[in-house]
Amino acid sequence: MSAVIRPIPPNPRAALDAFDGGDSGHTLDQAAQAAARVAAQFADAVDRDARFPAEALEAMREQRLLGATVPRELGGSGATLAAVASACRILGKACSAAGMVFAMHHIKVASTIAHASAAPWHRAFLEQLARNQWLVASATSEDGTGGNLRKSQCAVEVSGGRFTLRKLAPTISYGAHADVIIATARRDSSAPASEQVLVTLRKEDLALTVRGGWDTLGMRGTCTDSFILDGQGAIEQIFPVPFADIAETSMVPDSHILWSSLWVGIASDAYARAQRYFREQSPNGDSPAGRRIAEALSLLQAMQARIDSALHRRANAHPQRSWSECMADAAQINALKTFVSNSALGVAEHAMMAIGMAAYKNGTPFSLGRHLRDLHAAPLMINNDRIEINTARLILAQRPDHEVSAR
Ligand SMILES: Cc1cc2nc3c(=O)[nH]c(=O)nc-3n(C[C@H](O)[C@H](O)[C@H](O)COP(=O)(O)OP(=O)(O)OC[C@H]3O[C@@H](n4cnc5c(N)ncnc54)[C@H](O)[C@@H]3O)c2cc1C
Repeated sequence: MSAVIRPIPPNPRAALDAFDGGDSGHTLDQAAQAAARVAAQFADAVDRDARFPAEALEAMREQRLLGATVPRELGGSGATLAAVASACRILGKACSAAGMVFAMHHIKVASTIAHASAAPWHRAFLEQLARNQWLVASATSEDGTGGNLRKSQCAVEVSGGRFTLRKLAPTISYGAHADVIIATARRDSSAPASEQVLVTLRKEDLALTVRGGWDTLGMRGTCTDSFILDGQGAIEQIFPVPFADIAETSMVPDSHILWSSLWVGIASDAYARAQRYFREQSPNGDSPAGRRIAEALSLLQAMQARIDSALHRRANAHPQRSWSECMADAAQINALKTFVSNSALGVAEHAMMAIGMAAYKNGTPFSLGRHLRDLHAAPLMINNDRIEINTARLILAQRPDHEVSAR
């Protein structure tokens, strides 16, 4: 269920005071709207200069958005995944990079809450994160394994209650701006590539050496540089459950849902520009662009419905699901990612066709270059072809009575 977007209150502070982060998500929407207003002002500059959306992050911190999902007893607001998904859409509509930073941060925080919040070190970490509004980045990709989340080459080396880790990370979004990086690695140097753990590294546990920059087609403000990551810490900083469980039960589903919400946000801004142009140019609705607007709207509705359905399934998943049911859910969540990433691009292309030159040109109120470039990252971010191969395998593993429904 996505939260209803309410008007921003006159005093954004009021949104914060009323911020309950609870199931309604309404007040989280208001806080996200306040941050989105700031993000929108700088979106073009962030894209043009490929720079970190620092103003948007400051606004998110002011609105206490970075600790939104941390449980209340640890100083957060206990917001639901549905509420965060709605905030991703709001922020993505304003600035893709700011929305992506917010989404990626919350994917990592959600995994920490789900799998490590009972462990004392990570419990204290979550408290500090909420208090200080720490920003968390992710280092799962690695030289040699590409987008295969479930394989690592690097390994943690444990000795005397401490560990060290060196990872050749080709892509860490906002790595240079993060307070914390959560990374995958092999359990130890004798473990196979698939026996992975997740480790939490704060700034003081890390040395990052930049190996390459981020001059890309789109998503330029994510500043996804290449690094050599050198980390060290206490063994308590290693998540207490294997990464295979974390990926399956939280990281993959949460990332597909939150990324999808962000892409809907970007696409809905493209749609809004086309709709405005259509109103201005053909008040009688007799332009051929009308068909494009209608098709874009139906795609947007289908994308949002799929996200809502995934959120519903996730919130109501039975803890004792059978293996076959888990396979069905995993196939469904993969299909969500591939469907929304392709459809969001479809919406932006319809909007471009509906507007024409005013969308193709930069610097007009109807420009869509940024939206199109940013959305081209969506099918690549864990390559859709790779995901579809996995989906096909999952479908083969299901019993017929648990086959993925069309929903
Ligand atoms: C905007 C953006 C931000 C990102 N931020 C981060 C981040 O913060 N942290 C992070 O860790 N990563 C990040 N990434 C990286 C991302 O999540 C993937 O790891 C990366 O996109 C995969 O890189 P690749 O396309 O070069 O490699 P691959 O996944 O290897 O894909 C390259 C091609 O090879 C094919 N291929 C190769 N091997 C196989 C196989 N065995 N089965 C199927 N197909 C295969 C793929 O289908 C594709 O066609 C980011 C990416 C983007 C676009």
